[in-house]
Amino acid sequence: MPEKFDVIVVGAGPAGTSCAYTCAKNGLKVLQIERGEYPGSKNVMGGVLYRKQMEEIIPEFWKEAPLERPVIEQRIWMMDKESTVSFGYKGLEWAQEPYNNFTVLRAKFDQWFAKKGVEAGVLLINETVANQCIVENGKVIGIRTDRPDGEVYADVTVLADGVNSLLGKQLGFHKEFRPDEVALTVMEVINLSKDKINERFNLSENQGCTIEIFGDSTKGNLGTAFIYTNKESINIGVGTTLSSMIKSRMKPYDLLDYLKTHPMVKPLIEGGEAAEYLAHLIPEGGYHSVPKVAGNGVLVVGDAAQLVNAIHREGSNMAMASGKMAAETIVEAKKKGDFSMDTLKGYKDKLYNSFIIKDLKKYKDATHTFENNPQFLRDYVPMLNRAASKFFTVDGTSKKDKQKEIMKTMTSERGTIKLIKDVYKAWKAVK
Ligand code: FAD
Repeated sequence: MPEKFDVIVVGAGPAGTSCAYTCAKNGLKVLQIERGEYPGSKNVMGGVLYRKQMEEIIPEFWKEAPLERPVIEQRIWMMDKESTVSFGYKGLEWAQEPYNNFTVLRAKFDQWFAKKGVEAGVLLINETVANQCIVENGKVIGIRTDRPDGEVYADVTVLADGVNSLLGKQLGFHKEFRPDEVALTVMEVINLSKDKINERFNLSENQGCTIEIFGDSTKGNLGTAFIYTNKESINIGVGTTLSSMIKSRMKPYDLLDYLKTHPMVKPLIEGGEAAEYLAHLIPEGGYHSVPKVAGNGVLVVGDAAQLVNAIHREGSNMAMASGKMAAETIVEAKKKGDFSMDTLKGYKDKLYNSFIIKDLKKYKDATHTFENNPQFLRDYVPMLNRAASKFFTVDGTSKKDKQKEIMKTMTSERGTIKLIKDVYKAWKAVK
């Protein structure tokens, strides 16, 4: 008779490990299955990990977790071919405990986090693929893995298998995601000395910076690029929705090459040595794409449930928070001895009452609005750059005349009615 567990968690990313750890801490018997050689070996992230949700699982984790730098500055660039309009926030309060967020390298971080789960009692099996959920009388009772005699059973199975969750699809919880529901992102880790990073990004010891780049970084297509500072390396990447790539016939690695040689970017990474090249999908369908997240004996968490806020590049925090909520629901179900949909839908209630679904709902039409209106990134970013150049050039023209000239150029380039409509559309998408 195969061994039975209270919980099987498929996947050892932030969602899976948050769930497995919390279940084990509450005395449940937990099996966690990971297809990679070790947790993190297959995982890709730009690199910003949020303190709040991690701290709710392991208080003061920053004292022992393998983190890169606390982020003390977030910059946003609206970039044109030879210029950029930038804004952001730098705050020294983020350089001190309890911090705000950190850059991380997932291969190191996920391993450490999963080890905490193992210390709490999780049985972690690596290099094992969960191929299928075992369903009996409409209830998920375990999983079939690629190992010989690889069937394992549990009261609850948690799907934390990331974007494109094959197990969720097999259960009919979601369809194949459409190209406008996922973004393909490619990134490179570039080794650079600590001193050079500090000098180029204007940072002191143990301070980090993030730059999100819109406009020319994706050649005007819907997407963003990013540059994040690690201790002695830089993560640089760019991604757009698959649908944008298909429409514009762009290749993601061509975009990354373009970004790395852009005059605004090149000086930041010059002399660095490429250490790793990575590519991964990000679920960006948002609120409308969230699949069924609870069934009889089964819950779906993290990217597998499309829980990513692309506008604020939040995904790891939503993964962790959803994993913890799933665990808390399973602990309640165990107390009741009821693992049916009736009890497990408590997870859905928690999720929908939390910041996760509230935030996804706020931006529910953003991706589609910006995808269907390419003028925002393609036309307005260059327009903004030209306006800034005009405004900040001292040429003897009065500021009032400059303002008039800028408005005149904008309305003549786009047309007054279209301009007003665009402002309204953009406001409606993010309000
Ligand atoms: P994942 O991290 O994808 O983990 C899923 C795990 O399941 C993997 O370990 C995988 O190997 C395993 N697995 C999958 N299928 C199976 C199977 N059948 N059997 C066994 N194991 C399986 N978020 C942020 O918060 N900040 C950022 O800066 C940020 N930047 C990003 C940049 C990029 C390029 C990308 C791609 C994503 C970024 N994200 C960011 C999003 C973030 O990485 C995800 O939201 C987060 O990793 C989701 O965690 P997860 O545990 O749900 O899924």
